[in-house]
Parts: sequence; C-alpha cells; structure tokens
Amino acid sequence: MVNSMTTVILKPHKEESLLRFHPWVFSGAIARVVLDAKHKGDAPEEGELVCVQSSTSNVLGVGYWQVGSIAVRILAFGEDSLPADFWHSRIRAAYKVRESLGLVRKDNNTFRLVHGEGDNLPGLIVDIYADTAVVQAHSVGMHVCRKEIADAILAEVPQVQNIYYKSDDTLPFKAPIEGDKIGYLISDYQFPAPLGEGQEGTDEFWSIENGLSFRIDWLRGQKTGFFIDQRENRALVERYAHGKDVLNMFCYTGGFSLYALRGGAKTVDSVDVSQKAIDLVNINVAKNFPKAKNHTAVAADAFEYLSAQKSAGKTYDLIILDPPAFAKHRDAVKNALRGYQRINAKAIEMIRPGGILFTFSCSQAVDKEAFRLAVFSAAAQVGRSVRILHQLHQPQDHPINIYHPEGEYLKGLVLYVE
Ligand code: SAH
Repeated sequence: MVNSMTTVILKPHKEESLLRFHPWVFSGAIARVVLDAKHKGDAPEEGELVCVQSSTSNVLGVGYWQVGSIAVRILAFGEDSLPADFWHSRIRAAYKVRESLGLVRKDNNTFRLVHGEGDNLPGLIVDIYADTAVVQAHSVGMHVCRKEIADAILAEVPQVQNIYYKSDDTLPFKAPIEGDKIGYLISDYQFPAPLGEGQEGTDEFWSIENGLSFRIDWLRGQKTGFFIDQRENRALVERYAHGKDVLNMFCYTGGFSLYALRGGAKTVDSVDVSQKAIDLVNINVAKNFPKAKNHTAVAADAFEYLSAQKSAGKTYDLIILDPPAFAKHRDAVKNALRGYQRINAKAIEMIRPGGILFTFSCSQAVDKEAFRLAVFSAAAQVGRSVRILHQLHQPQDHPINIYHPEGEYLKGLVLYVE
C-alpha cells in the first residue's frame, strides 16, 4: 500500500504489543522507515505523524515520531492516518469521564481534563480552571498539534472560553521547536493582575474546587498554576481538622489550609518558601473566610521554620507535608529518601501525642514502599510510634494507563502519632 505519510515498518513479531494497545514503539523494534515523498531529510522529523505497520504490512496505528528509545507514541490504533475528528472525539471522551465522575458541578469547576497516557493522549496535560484551560505539551508531537487541541477543547468543554499554552518547562530540552512554547491559543485574558506590580489586568477570577474559591495564576504560578491532584486528600484533611492546631507545610496557594479552615480547625499556619505563593494564600483565605482570625501565612524555608518553632516549644495536632518532588530522576532517589526522612522526622517531633501527620511524595521515581520506609525511619529516629490510617494517591481525574504505570506518581500516608 502506498501511504502519503511516512511509514514505520516493524521487525517480525514486534507488532504484538501494539495489538494489545501498548502505546509505544521502541526504536529497537523498527526494521525500516519509508519516508513520505515530501521529505527532505533522511529521518522523520521529531513530532511528525507516522503510520506504523507490521513486517507483513498490516496497519497497526498512527502516532508521532520521537527522538530517543521510544521512537513512536501511538495516538490511534488500527488507523493509517489520524481520523478527521480525532482530537474532538478524544477530548469529548475525556470530558465525559470527568462528568460521569461528578467533577463538573456548579461548586466544582476545577479538574484535570487530560492526564497523558491515562487519557490515551500521550504527552498531553490539560487542566481546567473555571472558564480557562491550561494546556501543557510534554512532547513535540503534541506541541505540533496544539492548535487542533485548543479548537477541540473550545468546542467540547462548554465552560471553556480561554486557552493558555504553557510548555516552556515541559518540552524536550534539545528538540527543535517551531512556534511559541507559551501564550494564549484562544482569547487573550488579562488575568491575573500581577501581584503588587501595578500592571493592567483583572482580579475577577475564581476557580472553584469543592465549593472553595481559588485565585489561580497560570501565568506566573508553578506547573499549570494549581495542584489539582490533592483535591481528594484535601477533603480528607477537612474531615480531621475540627478543633485542631494545623500546620500546612509547603502550602503553595493554601489548598489544604482552606479545607482545614472549613473543617473547623482551631488555628491554621500556612508555610511556603515562595512569597508569591503566600500572597495568594492570603487572597484565598480572605475570599473564603473574610472573618478568619485563626490563620497565619509565613514565607519561610521548611527546615528552618520547623527548627525555629521547635526551639520555641511549638506543637501541632495535625501537620501536612507536601513537598516538591525531591527526586526528579532515578539517580536522585537516594538523596530524595534522605530528604523525606529528614523533613518527616522534624514534623513528627512537633506533633502532640494523638496527633495526625499527612505526608506526601510526588516524586514518580520514589516508589510507595521506599517512601513508607523513609517515613517509618523518621518516626523511629525521633522515638515516636506511628500507625497508618490511610494510604493516599492521585485522584480519579489523573487516571493511570495500565501499560504506563509511570503515570502513577503521587503517594501519601496519614499517620496516627502516639
Ligand atoms: N500543597 C500544595 C502544593 C505544594 S507544591 C497544594 O495543595 O497546592 C510544593 C511547594 O513547596 C511549592 O509551593 C514550593 O514553593 C514549596 N517549597 C519548595 N521548597 C521549599 C522549602 N525549602 N521550604 C518551604 N517550601 C518550599
């Protein structure tokens, strides 16, 4: 068959994993590549759509070419070109899942719409904040298709009117990228007004998670602007917060703090090293609890803050530790585990007998067992006995593809501290 598209032909028997819907073609499985007629170079371009065939010319699917050990990531199995309604039908399917999970409600318009492989869209993340979608490409293949993706989101997700593209930190570092890595794809929302910089913009924006309003700064904030992945775990903090003195360490814009306040916490201290994050915590607390006098927000380093508070004799009933990924790569795991042990030891020391620790790791490279061991070692180190009350993970709008277990990254423990 003559295909107008570049064709990747596999070695004999290498089609089997694709027939089982495994989404990757490894470079070692490829026998040869037949470039399309228009091609100038001698290899496919990074991000180019290619058709994958077996050694006996069976069409296996269409995907995009990558440089590296994963040569092709499949978008559509059994197709020899991308179906015309591909982006619309995938985005529609992802939205339907969120609707059926009960995440699209008047009191909840904050959710992850697309979680990469978990939504059969390898390399793509889309987070929804009220009327705004923030799109993040982790591959050149997704970058190339960003305009089609934006059109599909606009058409398929009724609440969305603005689409911001934010891939400056996520696209492969060495890849040749055409076009902007950041900027609005749809509309040009003057939001949010930069804090304290006196520039033009609007502050009339709130995204709602479980009835709580959050100012989300996708332009200057971390990742897509907010950590939607802690939604269910924040709701659990709300259940335990009543009457307690709570410390939300690594609070970012105060997600756990707002739930603790709504749960009737006696006091809540929010701590983050970023002053911008602390400014947003104060804005979020003022919006949701304008009369609250039991919340303080401090910009400080976690280790320094905990040491200083301990010296001052301070203790808490409930501490949340949600640090950034300590290990971004496999070779950093050992150091990361030491870091988790250190910070957990410092926190456990400050918990009153009968108190509770919520402790998390979002390092994909650190597995559940290793993290648990680090936390238990921390408890042993400071001579406290702990029990596991809950084992936590990422929520339902961050699904895991069974062939891509790497999509699982967030883990947490809730411990009862004797
Ligand atoms: N719990 C938050 C997300 C935390 S992200 C939520 O629910 O939204 C991790 C946060 O740790 C970031 O806001 C980052 O600014 C902060 N951070 C990084 N290093 C830190 C340090 N050494 N001390 C205190 N905060 C730190």
